[in-house]
Amino acid sequence: MPRVDDSSIDEVRRTADLLELVRGQVQLARRGGRWWGRCPFHDERTPSFCLIPPENRTYYCYGCGATGDAFTWMQEREGAGSFMEAVEALADRFGVELRYQASSPQEEARRREGERIRELMERACAFYAAMLWKADEAAVAREYLLGRGFPEELLRTFRVGWAPGGGTALSGRAIQEGFSREQLAQAGLARVRGGTAQDFFQSRITFPISDARGRVQGFGARTLDPNERAKYVNSPEGDRFRKRELLFGLDLARQPAAKAGFAVVSEGYTDVLGLHMAGIPGAVACMGTALTTAQLRLLARVVPEVRLCFDADRAGEEAARRTIEAARDVPVRLAVVGLPPGSDPGELAGQASGREVLAAAVDSADPLLPWLVDRRIARAGDAPADQDRALSDLGDLLEAFPESPDKDEAIRRVTALGVSPVLFDRFMRRAQGGGGARRRSAPDSGPEVATEEGPSLDEARERRLLALAIAMPTAGRPMLQGMREDHLASPAHRQARALVIEGTEGWPDELKALEAGLRAEAADGGTEEELKDAYLRVEKRALERKMAVARTAGDDQEFLRLQAMVKRVESVLRAGA
Ligand SMILES: [Zn+2]
Repeated sequence: MPRVDDSSIDEVRRTADLLELVRGQVQLARRGGRWWGRCPFHDERTPSFCLIPPENRTYYCYGCGATGDAFTWMQEREGAGSFMEAVEALADRFGVELRYQASSPQEEARRREGERIRELMERACAFYAAMLWKADEAAVAREYLLGRGFPEELLRTFRVGWAPGGGTALSGRAIQEGFSREQLAQAGLARVRGGTAQDFFQSRITFPISDARGRVQGFGARTLDPNERAKYVNSPEGDRFRKRELLFGLDLARQPAAKAGFAVVSEGYTDVLGLHMAGIPGAVACMGTALTTAQLRLLARVVPEVRLCFDADRAGEEAARRTIEAARDVPVRLAVVGLPPGSDPGELAGQASGREVLAAAVDSADPLLPWLVDRRIARAGDAPADQDRALSDLGDLLEAFPESPDKDEAIRRVTALGVSPVLFDRFMRRAQGGGGARRRSAPDSGPEVATEEGPSLDEARERRLLALAIAMPTAGRPMLQGMREDHLASPAHRQARALVIEGTEGWPDELKALEAGLRAEAADGGTEEELKDAYLRVEKRALERKMAVARTAGDDQEFLRLQAMVKRVESVLRAGA
């Protein structure tokens, strides 16, 4: 791959406006010559996240120590998968023309060819979009789309189009504009037979499928002719178009999803349009029956939580179950949007009342594992044999999962059923076997709620944080200041926190022993990385304690919100490890 010239990277660095980027996701207010906001990397009540003046090219959080520039922001908050992707995305956004380092003629030719095909894709997209609104033959498509209640403005935003019939409407035009038949074939826009190019899409509504940066990679196309065999046709799979690694609508969904803290995944193109109409712009479509690991990774770069909005039938349940498998190593939590049976988002959006139903369903999404338990239970009959089978299935399902608050909740829902003690015992042995035991051997994973080593482990973590804050007061004090008092479980540690913030030496009698211990530990020193790590571990425990409270109180929304935050902290911890 040709490398971007260093001078270009410098130009991007100078031109990229971090303030504008951050404002897309965080509400900022000017105070004391700086822009401040609530940190998007940790949970806080009062803003300790700011841009460093005068250039505003660096962000810094006095609470959790998160810091970086426009490039890291793109990677951590806007879905760029690497530094180079961040450079290219920023160049796009702020209009910097990138220069590439001198490379071999073959490499250079390949790069030019790639650019040419990208251009062809964009032109095809614009051509189809224009056809939808002005071609006579597209009247049927306009009627269909507007008749389903999709507003013209929204259809234009998504660049929905019409591929004309006849066979050469697009190809003929592209060739006139200087593109070759081979390029058309490579882009998946035409088939070349006997030296002539025939349009790949004909008489169909087109939905452009773009990458995270909005570059068109291919199309999905729907026929309105009931006699056509395939209702939907996609661009041919190839280097450019890999359906399993793309999400329809991701480019438009990224920012609003990051702001909301979750993305909604539906099955089809019109579902995404429907979700937009219901006031949920952080929506994408997986264009199939289940999310792939690659798709989940794209989403995990942007949001900590993914809400599945699949059909409410048995197939939807299967898809949800397969998504759990695909998400095994992806730092994202899954929830399910419960739709009324037989409905889909695209359809619901056609009426104001349907849009309300949709918005409410997305709002009250259920964590996936407990949801699956409910569904399985609902399908079982009252006969003991049915129940036995359901419990056995659920045991199988839960066995595969490490301990987590979602799993606790799932088990709680089974417990609430009131099945016979013998059956239940068998279920519990299974559900708590495998996964839990495997996971327990890994350090620092799973919630430690109510385990025996819990309190002492909490205390050890809090001590570590306090000691490091004493060792590095410049970084440590603002960190302690930014945290909530209830981050610390131990009352003695809460008092100690205040004393460390004030820089008091010679603590009250009842804290003398603690002070001596902390100062001895502080004398060994530490690094800012360790400090940040210690902070995050304490924060994670604080969130988990709050989750337990929310669960007891039956506050599902709060429970979900906190759990998403735990996931995020965990992924930051993993990234730092
Ligand atoms: Zn922070």
